[in-house]
Amino acid sequence: MRGTVTAKRPTRPEPLVGGPTPDLRGKRVLIVGFGRSGKAAALFCHQLGAAVTVSESKPENALAELPSDFPPDIRIAAGGHRTEDFVSADLIILSPGVPPTLSVLEAARASAVPILPEVELAWRFLRGVFVGITGSNGKTTTTSLVGSILEAAELPVYVAGNIGRPLTQALLDGRREGIFVLELSSFQLQPVRAMRCQIGAFLNFTPDHLDRHASLAEYFHAKMRLFETQQPQDWAVLNADDPRVADAPCRGRRAYFSVEKPVDDGVFASGSNLFVAAGGSATPFLRRDEISLPGNHNLANVAAAAAVAALLDIPPDVVAQAVRSFRAVPHRLEFIAAVQGVRFYNDSKATNVDAAVKALDSFAEPVVLILGGLDKGGDFSELVPAVRNRVRRIVLMGAAADKIATALQNVVPAVRAQSMEEAVQTAFRAAQPGDIVLLAPACASFDMFANYEARGEAFRSAVNRLAREAAGLYREGASLA
Ligand code: ADP
Repeated sequence: MRGTVTAKRPTRPEPLVGGPTPDLRGKRVLIVGFGRSGKAAALFCHQLGAAVTVSESKPENALAELPSDFPPDIRIAAGGHRTEDFVSADLIILSPGVPPTLSVLEAARASAVPILPEVELAWRFLRGVFVGITGSNGKTTTTSLVGSILEAAELPVYVAGNIGRPLTQALLDGRREGIFVLELSSFQLQPVRAMRCQIGAFLNFTPDHLDRHASLAEYFHAKMRLFETQQPQDWAVLNADDPRVADAPCRGRRAYFSVEKPVDDGVFASGSNLFVAAGGSATPFLRRDEISLPGNHNLANVAAAAAVAALLDIPPDVVAQAVRSFRAVPHRLEFIAAVQGVRFYNDSKATNVDAAVKALDSFAEPVVLILGGLDKGGDFSELVPAVRNRVRRIVLMGAAADKIATALQNVVPAVRAQSMEEAVQTAFRAAQPGDIVLLAPACASFDMFANYEARGEAFRSAVNRLAREAAGLYREGASLA
């Protein structure tokens, strides 16, 4: 573009070699949790010659069936954690869903048993550039965006972590080198000992997961592990619009992203464009209206991903092209269907109040909002301003329905539904053509569903059924005319 100075791009970090790699031959390794990560870690440690035990709180009959080639000498201790397994281990590996504060882990710490998160076990055996992405919301979206950008740049990217693919899977797949883009939750970061990411992005910080952490300070401190293991040449990518994040203590260099104001190094939105900036000079590279993801929070996610990409020396036109073709990750403000002029969006992943507010703020149209589920200790009254501005009616479901109704103080009419099917039908009846029906529950799903994906799928099926019924009615009406 004329009249702009092309920003000087930083050079991509040198690959680093993880470590120290533990010698696991003949060692007793205890894997805590038997989901995807636990299984991958168990197999990997077994390959290294360890005597592996898996400790799982669920009873044996609740576990998924093991594949026929699963090594029979991996011992599964299901139905509760036994202290003797923990204190007698040489090494303990934690699955991402396991609270690092579990009392049996305290016993292990008292016996000086080393504890590693599964992601760090894998990190220690890998060589590459590591990008760690954390924050209260937007991790999966931003991680997927970075993955798509690096794929578009034809770089050897491996996306893993909290996103549903354990990093240990890279080792099982024979991938020992590359650019590893890791979604990291606070549970995964809290027990980190040495894991270093040359680029760490901290997206935002809201009081989510207070059900999982003793205090806000503990939750923040867990996130800070991402930066505490960095070296001075490493990068922290920080949200300039979130003061707690912008001022986070870091040992490395700082880049920023913002949707509110220009930044010297990083990516920011101004007017109708996104700009990439280095050393104070900025270049526009993408128009806002080229981003298909709705909402200002998604603009922030794109800015964060583009700031990471800039540090990886990806040309801005490649970033722009990848963002243009990126579609919402399922269950994150995902468009499902339009039925008689009413558009249905699935944001089942909005499991906290902040995400639900962000979802609501993404629409200018009137919204019929489906809320409720299992309370995570959030303050539902924070929904009031957004609800008052654009919600026509609320459909409440799940265990938190009464608490939400009380917090919303009759700002708008609310009705109850016993099932997702009923919620979708009720919402549709309350909506007018041009409205949005939004599932953004502000709660966890476990009171009625196996997880947020199952809740989102129930919404999708109910909407699709409604669409089929509406199409049938329409045809019937047409044939009568
Ligand atoms: P995470 O992996 O951190 O849970 P997701 O990308 O899966 O993040 O999004 C989780 C929920 O938060 C979704 O409802 C989504 O619409 C919302 N969300 C996404 N990005 C942001 C953001 N930057 N700030 C607030 N809410 C967000």
